[in-house]
Amino acid sequence: MFEYWGNYMINPCSLCLANCCKTYMITVTSFDVLRICTATSKHYSDFTVLHKPGLIYDPDMVLDTTDGCGSYILGLKSHPCIFLGDYNRCNIHDFSPLSCRRFPHTLDSKINARFCPPFAKLFFSLKKPGVTTSIYKKELDQYKQIVKQWNRSPGKQADCIRFLLERTDFLADFAYIKKKTDQEDASASKDS
Ligand code: SF4
Ligand code: SF4
Repeated sequence: MFEYWGNYMINPCSLCLANCCKTYMITVTSFDVLRICTATSKHYSDFTVLHKPGLIYDPDMVLDTTDGCGSYILGLKSHPCIFLGDYNRCNIHDFSPLSCRRFPHTLDSKINARFCPPFAKLFFSLKKPGVTTSIYKKELDQYKQIVKQWNRSPGKQADCIRFLLERTDFLADFAYIKKKTDQEDASASKDS
């Protein structure tokens, strides 16, 4: 079934097989993980994983470890994403990671439509990102500070995610998950 943005513009994701959710390693922040834990009552170990960083990751999000395991990026269990549900729909749509809410808009306001249907880029170019640049950047910057704290004195891989979540807990603003999508869209329309 088609979904629409507003009354007239079709959401191209409703015509797609969720290629992005099946193809990418889904990178998240500890803020994303805490939001999902709060909203779903799942334990973080049910859905998070430390991925080996690929070629295009932000180096400020790379986590070092001391037990010979190397470096990692915090992510969701992927290929496909663990939260991809029936009919290629996201099971955590209202509190999905900020990177998913913003996708395919990138942080530098380009559009990554590599895996989208051919017509989709045009539609996305007419729509503001689902999360504003300022909200996304603020949270990413806070997460990178926590990553930096870990990397100053890295520990074992097994302790890493718990460390990130403990440091994040007192900073987290869970009011975000209570916002309605239309409120976020209104905020996004003011994005510069
Ligand atoms: S962002 Fe692109 S690849 Fe992902 S579901 Fe939407 S149309 Fe498909
Ligand atoms: S959290 Fe949802 S939108 Fe993000 S990759 Fe997983 S299924 Fe797709």
